[in-house]
Amino acid sequence: MADSDTLTNALRDLIWANHILHHHGVVDAYGHISIRHPTDSSVYIMCGYMAPAMVSSPSDLIQYHVSNSDPIDPDAQKGYSERFIHGEIFKRFPRVNCVVHSHAEEVLPYVVTTQVPLRAVYHMAGFLGSKPVKVFDIDHHYEHGDQRDMLVRNARFGAALAHMFGGRETPNETVVLMKRHGFTCVAGNLVTAVYRAIYTKINAEVQTKAMTMAKMHSYGVDGQSGFGGLTEEQGEGCKVMCETYQDKPWRLWVREVERNPLYENTLSEEGV
Ligand SMILES: [Zn+2]
Repeated sequence: MADSDTLTNALRDLIWANHILHHHGVVDAYGHISIRHPTDSSVYIMCGYMAPAMVSSPSDLIQYHVSNSDPIDPDAQKGYSERFIHGEIFKRFPRVNCVVHSHAEEVLPYVVTTQVPLRAVYHMAGFLGSKPVKVFDIDHHYEHGDQRDMLVRNARFGAALAHMFGGRETPNETVVLMKRHGFTCVAGNLVTAVYRAIYTKINAEVQTKAMTMAKMHSYGVDGQSGFGGLTEEQGEGCKVMCETYQDKPWRLWVREVERNPLYENTLSEEGV
């Protein structure tokens, strides 16, 4: 494959990955994904200053020097202030070719209170390992005069975060949490990094719910300790009510899938 084809395919995947991460709630207007240039390891690529969902073409992407996170094109559009997360990880780990940074709210409880560590709790999150996921605290790296906004906005902060991943050519950690901020995950390729980002988020959600259920179990479900279900009469009444009004959500659900080009139904008619 010609180098130009290799680059085009990588950029196509990067644009898709921006959309996929948005679709799965890993990024909103914030958060970002980068790749190492497929034919020049001294360069990395990520989108400019825009929400990932808005990226649509190679002209939205910026190439940066791994060495210092300066843009290759001095006249490049504005980029992310947190690109140093990506640049310093690519610099430290030659085997890392994709980095994702996220503020996904499912993960945030684990970076707000670090008393409950994030752990792999089901089979899709084996990449998190068997130990608590490490937490990077930028507060330890502030110096006099630094703006303390938690952002990894320079190479010093980026290098400190990269250091938390441990290891040499290949990092020991796949994911590092960032206190009061979010998380960053890495991989040798884009698909694996996207997978890890999505399942880090889902694992956090599952862990939170499972721990909540475990706590509820200790309270009991008999209504004696503040938690209880509907009574038999309430259940019967609510069942009748729900079945009376269920046509309203049904029309909404049909509209949602009809208007999404992902779903096709050859028997579909507008105006159901
Ligand atoms: Zn951030």
